[in-house]
Amino acid sequence: MSKRQIAMVMDLNKCVGCHTCSVACKRLWTRREGMQAMWWNTVNTQPGQGTPRAWEQMGGGFRDGVAQPGELPTAGEFGEAWEYDFDEAFRAGRPDAVLAPKGGDPEWGPNWEEDQGAGAYPNSYYFYLPRICNHCTHPACLEACPREAIEKRDEDGIVLVNEDRCRGYRYCMEACPYKKIYFNASQGVAQKCIFCLPRLEQGVTTACARQCPGRVRFVGFLDDPAGPIHKLVNHYRVALPLHAEYGTQPNVFYVPPLSPPKLDAKGNPSGEPRIPTEYLESLFGPRVREVLATLEKERARRRAGETSELMDLLISRRWLDMFGPFDRHPRDVAPLRPSRARGEA
Ligand code: SF4
Ligand code: SF4
Ligand code: SF4
Repeated sequence: MSKRQIAMVMDLNKCVGCHTCSVACKRLWTRREGMQAMWWNTVNTQPGQGTPRAWEQMGGGFRDGVAQPGELPTAGEFGEAWEYDFDEAFRAGRPDAVLAPKGGDPEWGPNWEEDQGAGAYPNSYYFYLPRICNHCTHPACLEACPREAIEKRDEDGIVLVNEDRCRGYRYCMEACPYKKIYFNASQGVAQKCIFCLPRLEQGVTTACARQCPGRVRFVGFLDDPAGPIHKLVNHYRVALPLHAEYGTQPNVFYVPPLSPPKLDAKGNPSGEPRIPTEYLESLFGPRVREVLATLEKERARRRAGETSELMDLLISRRWLDMFGPFDRHPRDVAPLRPSRARGEA
């Protein structure tokens, strides 16, 4: 256990699947050689296979405290960028040429199943699930590394790879049940989300949270009673970990999505939500029903003109309140350079 823990809450009722978070992270942290196909932040349509492909079936993590075997995801399962023959399409002078990926039709790529979802009209459904490293309290990646190249910081619980110690064995990638570690083949090291540590150190929230137009992401310390994280996770108890059964005690939490009612054969609203509660329980555990009931109750209170601190918190009219003590503007601090990630310009 670290002395303190920084955590994130993502309200899935507000994610519009725009991928701004992924791009914000990529612009800042994964632009070096060997990181071309690396997305520390991903946003996938659920239900779906996610990124890397079928990651939920790849094992890792712990069962009853015992480490479980896990698979090493391939570059193809993460989804490599397709290459295009621009010369052929635009400069060869062939009017019938089309711009298509080289090497034939691809069969997989990042966000291959975007907006596909499940169910049949008029009851089809989907929602977006953004994911970063969970900076777990019991990190399987750290425990699996024979080089002790992964550390969990005592002061804030952030999990980091020390690239100087890493020899690229990739046991961490097998062990992480969320498959949130990436291999940089050019540099021969494992790399992952650093929770924007150089920003947090200066009181600036993470890039993925600050750039999010949906105001989905709250950032702060779990033990700060005045901050949004403590309120959502411990006080109102509406934010739940993803796949807690993986045994790593993740520190990214999700407010599960409400959905409109299913329609019956005559097109009338039934009492059931369109997104099956059982499916949400398979992701966020047995407290989902209770959380959805709390959200509905508080929403009704707010609509009736009553006060609801929980709804005000989730609506986030005061945007900077979402970031606890990390509410400084990036322009007001020293240039934000990665202090741990080697070689960034
Ligand atoms: Fe390690 Fe994976 Fe947990 Fe991140 S999500 S701390 S990479 S086990
Ligand atoms: Fe990237 Fe920072 Fe978000 Fe991690 S916290 S996914 S490093 S932007
Ligand atoms: Fe867009 Fe925010 Fe959802 Fe990311 S978390 S896809 S930035 S709405």
